Amino acid sequence: MTEPFSVLLERQKYPGYGRCIYCLSDGGAARLRREHIIPRALGGNAEILQASCSDCEAKTSHVDGALANAMFRDLRIYLRLQSRRKTTTRTTHLPTTFLLPNGETRTELMLVEERPVEVHVPLLFPPGLVSGVNLDGVEIRTMHSIIHIPEKFRLPPSCQPSASLKIEGQFDVYTFSRALAKIAHCFTVITHGLDAFEPFLPPIILGENANPLRYIGGTYEPPPPPWPGGKHHIAMFEMRRDGNTYFGVDIRLFAPFGEGGMPNVGMPVYRVISGLVRQTRT
Ligand SMILES: [Zn+2]
Repeated sequence: MTEPFSVLLERQKYPGYGRCIYCLSDGGAARLRREHIIPRALGGNAEILQASCSDCEAKTSHVDGALANAMFRDLRIYLRLQSRRKTTTRTTHLPTTFLLPNGETRTELMLVEERPVEVHVPLLFPPGLVSGVNLDGVEIRTMHSIIHIPEKFRLPPSCQPSASLKIEGQFDVYTFSRALAKIAHCFTVITHGLDAFEPFLPPIILGENANPLRYIGGTYEPPPPPWPGGKHHIAMFEMRRDGNTYFGVDIRLFAPFGEGGMPNVGMPVYRVISGLVRQTRT
């Protein structure tokens, strides 16, 4: 079902299509703006130069910000990924909160290279269109946590002899689904062009009332081990159902990131159905 992963690492520029890739408008006087395929804040370099009208940009811009700052902030800082504001000084320390055996908490400022990195992402059911199951609203199978402990980590003196990490549990699955939809839509557009398919994802990307679970989900397989070959992995696939052919995209963000040790658990794969292939395709 899935082709080998391709890697979106290189700085690639795609010209665009003269229309907004979300609403198909010509962009009006404000023209069309560039759009990163993987958000720049996650290290994405590839971009579509004339991609999004200003109306759509206004509706989508906070999605990348939420991904970068709320969901993957610690990991981004640990990996030294570029920030939108290049003038800001590099973060060297971050607070880390520990739970002591007596129930008290201690928050310590720790060097970025020496503190544990927590990533919490949802494991999702396969998209409804893949599984044939109709899911309503946003459902999570379970949260998947990766706690990466750097070799230089030492428990702060105030927390010795033993303490556990206090896990902060907030995750906005709806915004995360929109971010996955955006990546999948952009990737399908650069791979096949804007006219090759009837897209399913723009209403989700623009935050209109739409059920993301029909098109966005995961797989039943457990998260595979880290893949050392690149930053993020994205792969197109085609799926046949009831005489129709659909474009799909598998997305694995931060593919090389993992917990270390055995079993070596990595980031999950998300599966997104981006649209119905037009029959007129040559
Ligand atoms: Zn638009």
